[in-house]
Amino acid sequence: KVRVRFAPSPTGFLHIGGARTALFNWLYARHTGGTFILRIEDTDAARNTQEAVEVILNGLRWLGLDWDEGPISGDATGASKGDRGPYFQSQRSENYKRRVDALLSRGLAYEHEGAVKFKMQREPVVIPDLVVGNVTRELTDREKLDPDFVIVRSDGQPVFHFVNVIDDLEMGITHVIRGEDHLSNTAKHIALFKAFGVEPPKYAHIPLILNIDGTKMSKRDKGASLMTYVEEGYAPEAVINYLCLLGWSPKGNREKVPLKEVTELFDLPQILRHNARFDLNKLHWLNGEYIKDMSSDRFHELAVHALARIGIDTNRFDLEYVKAGLDTAKQKVKLFSEVPTFTDFYFKDEVELPAEMIQKDFPPTLKPSLQKLRDVYAQLPSFDPDTLNTTLKAVAVELGVSVGVLVHPLRLAATGRTIGPSLYHLLEVLGKERVLHRIDQALA
Ligand code: GLU
Repeated sequence: KVRVRFAPSPTGFLHIGGARTALFNWLYARHTGGTFILRIEDTDAARNTQEAVEVILNGLRWLGLDWDEGPISGDATGASKGDRGPYFQSQRSENYKRRVDALLSRGLAYEHEGAVKFKMQREPVVIPDLVVGNVTRELTDREKLDPDFVIVRSDGQPVFHFVNVIDDLEMGITHVIRGEDHLSNTAKHIALFKAFGVEPPKYAHIPLILNIDGTKMSKRDKGASLMTYVEEGYAPEAVINYLCLLGWSPKGNREKVPLKEVTELFDLPQILRHNARFDLNKLHWLNGEYIKDMSSDRFHELAVHALARIGIDTNRFDLEYVKAGLDTAKQKVKLFSEVPTFTDFYFKDEVELPAEMIQKDFPPTLKPSLQKLRDVYAQLPSFDPDTLNTTLKAVAVELGVSVGVLVHPLRLAATGRTIGPSLYHLLEVLGKERVLHRIDQALA
């Protein structure tokens, strides 16, 4: 039975490449009915904090990548699920010590000036990689002088190669799916597995994610952190879809593929061998597509969240009103961070008109026209978009002005903005009382 893991080091940052590695592991587990494990590689005590682990857990949760075994909270002493734990390396010292002793007692490792070195095999190691193909790794000229490598430093700390292998071994990992930057380590890992008489897992090294211009994506590049997408108002389902396509491709070059379908189709040999380029424009486009096709309920959930982020509490309002207001923005926004610009006026008691807009859009000559429209609107028995539209046209004809002369200041008075949802629909949602009040305020 397939057992895969995502094994991040908590750095306070979830790289978009790490998120994709997690996703590919998750997909493979779900595709095969296997187990997806989250293991925290927190051996670098100085950098590890509970917050740094939370960043990873929250990122995975935001993406919807649930793990079957692993920590439940970022607290290393807290609860976990699964029976192969602990899932924090910082809590596995005993396991590592036992394993080092086993190698020492069998003469497969030896002490060297306070450190412990592993006797590396001299023959080339063949890495049968499911993505890259067979890779034969020979010793480098430097390694030929001393092929053995340190597994425990003189300060007593076991090194990454060692703890990574011990954990994969003890957690029964069947497939190691990780970034290609680890391919160069894999010969050492395979040799360690053999030393314990255990068949190494199967390997699938995934090509790196590059910037759109082909340069390596570094931590500082905008867009390298998953948090950027959370903050800028992307929908998790769009980000997941985009990450699926970064290095994996369904037949027919389809762009919008629901996760359920990817899970059915996903397999390791189809992972593309060349590096993937991160195309922010494409993700942005995809996000807009997801929003357009999203159910109203899902749109409301994410939109309310986007409003809350900037301090607008929609709970003060009637739920039907909130939903009706948000609906008028659904076809207009491509990012949830645009939702406030398109809808904040629904949730304000007073609309402020910036002074320069008043000067430009409310010249004194215009006030009588807007006043006239207000008085006619006040008499309307029904405040629906059709009536509002035909009434405005009729008033314009009566006044001998173009429709635009009324439309523009009306939108400004009702919303405080020059762009937004379709005018008559937003007026209907605001309702007669609010609209008349706002026109009065603008005319005052
Ligand atoms: N902690 C390592 C990393 O974040 C894990 C490598 C692996 O997946 O084996 O790169």
